[in-house]
Amino acid sequence: MSADGAQAGLEPLSALKVGGANASVVPFLAIFALAAAVPFIGNDYWVLIATRAAVYWVLVSGLTLVIGYAGQLAIGYVALLTLGAYVTSVLAAGNVLPPIPVFAALALAGLVGAVAGVIVGLPALRLRTFYFAMTTLGFATIVTQIALAWQSVTGGGIGLSGPEMPAPFNTTRGFFFFCLAAAAMCTWMSSNIAGSRYGRSLVAIRDADVAAEAVGISKPGLLTKVFIFCGALAGIAGGLFASLQTYITPDAFTFDLSLLFFISILIGGRGSILGPLIGTIVLTLLPEIAAPLAAWSAFLYAAMLLAVVLLIPGGIAALLDFKSRAPLETGRTIAPRLDMLSALAPAVGNQETLSVRDVVLTFGAVRAIDGASLDVASGQIHGLIGPNGSGKTTILNVISGFYAPNSGDVQLGGVPLEAGDPVTRTRHGIARTFQTPRIVGEACVLDNVMLGGTINGRAGFFATLLSLPGSFRDERMFRSQALAALACVGLDGLADVRADRLQHSELRFVEIARALMSRPKLLLLDEPAAGLSVHEIVHLGQLVKAIAANGAAVLLVEHHADLIFGICAHVTVLNLGRVLAEGTPDQIRVNKEVVSAYLGG
Ligand code: ADP
Ligand code: MG
Repeated sequence: MSADGAQAGLEPLSALKVGGANASVVPFLAIFALAAAVPFIGNDYWVLIATRAAVYWVLVSGLTLVIGYAGQLAIGYVALLTLGAYVTSVLAAGNVLPPIPVFAALALAGLVGAVAGVIVGLPALRLRTFYFAMTTLGFATIVTQIALAWQSVTGGGIGLSGPEMPAPFNTTRGFFFFCLAAAAMCTWMSSNIAGSRYGRSLVAIRDADVAAEAVGISKPGLLTKVFIFCGALAGIAGGLFASLQTYITPDAFTFDLSLLFFISILIGGRGSILGPLIGTIVLTLLPEIAAPLAAWSAFLYAAMLLAVVLLIPGGIAALLDFKSRAPLETGRTIAPRLDMLSALAPAVGNQETLSVRDVVLTFGAVRAIDGASLDVASGQIHGLIGPNGSGKTTILNVISGFYAPNSGDVQLGGVPLEAGDPVTRTRHGIARTFQTPRIVGEACVLDNVMLGGTINGRAGFFATLLSLPGSFRDERMFRSQALAALACVGLDGLADVRADRLQHSELRFVEIARALMSRPKLLLLDEPAAGLSVHEIVHLGQLVKAIAANGAAVLLVEHHADLIFGICAHVTVLNLGRVLAEGTPDQIRVNKEVVSAYLGG
């Protein structure tokens, strides 16, 4: 059965629009319609405030991908706004080169912003959270200092005029509608990314980075693309900001602005576009509504942040997520549909044997693997057993590239696997599950499973940004395959549910579904039966048998002797990192050394 055929059997489910930022466009349309009405119901003062909110949102709509989706603490983004403001103003005024049209200046500000976005972002590829936050702050200081010092170009402390927009955008209303259109465009682009494999990968980097690597997501490559996009939007927002201010000086770019951007996203909720949009509007309006408190804006932001962190940690997005408050059915059973598996059989049918040869891996004084070898052939289930600490997980980590062995080698179908490079494994046709399930709790089950197919997407970042036809094709393929994979493992009824609401045993099956998405030639399972009921273990056994029968090689690490001896063709017993015995289940069951060291009895 083809993947499309599999989808046909699940029509009611696939008709659901699951997860993602574009779950519904209605709230966005309502907000933008309301905003478009501001010039007709309010005076110019309110139009200016609405314009300011739109300009901020141009920046925040990109930044939410960096902070809210990827979880990178970029707190100094006012730096890019400053840069964009000066680049646009200087180029339009002709302070260095002959003056150029405002739109060309804005485009160049976007370009400079994109480059600066990558430069500011580079440390994030190496540094973690706080250190990265500090570097973004440092950059903000540098940009302001340069603006102050480079008087001949920037006017120093005295400043310079912002760019003047051409007609019809040179009136308060005209400029407002221009900024509103830009904001709408940015919302659309960010939502396109958020609802695509790129958005899912960003959240995976944030919440399950090890699983992200295992499915082939390269963090540096992905973050660089997002930094370029986010930086470009920030640069353009800077140009619009300069035009809105009509005159800019370095003190226009206060740390309060950076705080506003950051807190808009935090109170909006991470992993959402709608939440931070509402957050940006609220934070822009707040000082205006509480006019006497304008001087207290930093205090108000901080108070709101505290209130959100304490009362609604998920932010506005969590408050609006009604779906996740509906009770789930209790007493659910997992009923795999093995007939659906052929849709997810290995992409290439060649016989490919995994061969692990004389691998040694030490952690300091511990020889976690001490010269172990094993072979797993296509269509075969190979059991790997041994006491706790005998090196089973470590072997899986070597095969899946998380550890580079001190010596020995690992090949699949005669092709050596790059040591210590987990991101390459999906390309070789290797997928795995983890001893402790690594799942993105805040994403729905279907999104989690779709993650497993990430590297099979064809549409690039730019095509996805603009929602070109290729990105639709990708999403359709991901959805139909993920629904088929969920049906295989018997969880299609939960596709739409947030993964952190599932039971532990269900998460184990979600991980298997995610692994099946890449149609692996080799599947590595690390104690998949741990925490499962007797009944669920029976289903698991049938599922693993069917996966192997469809042509995959399976390496199964397990403690449940019944499962191992019931379904494996071959068993390797490890002890202290060494192969203690190997053979058929019948040979192992009666091996004296194994019985005394491990099986007991
Ligand atoms: P198993 O999965 O068979 O229970 P592991 O492969 O997890 O065993 O561990 C094998 C040995 O290697 C243990 O002694 C463990 O403490 C050690 N070990 C595993 N990973 C690391 C690590 N990252 N750093 C140091 N020691 C480790
Ligand atoms: Mg283990």
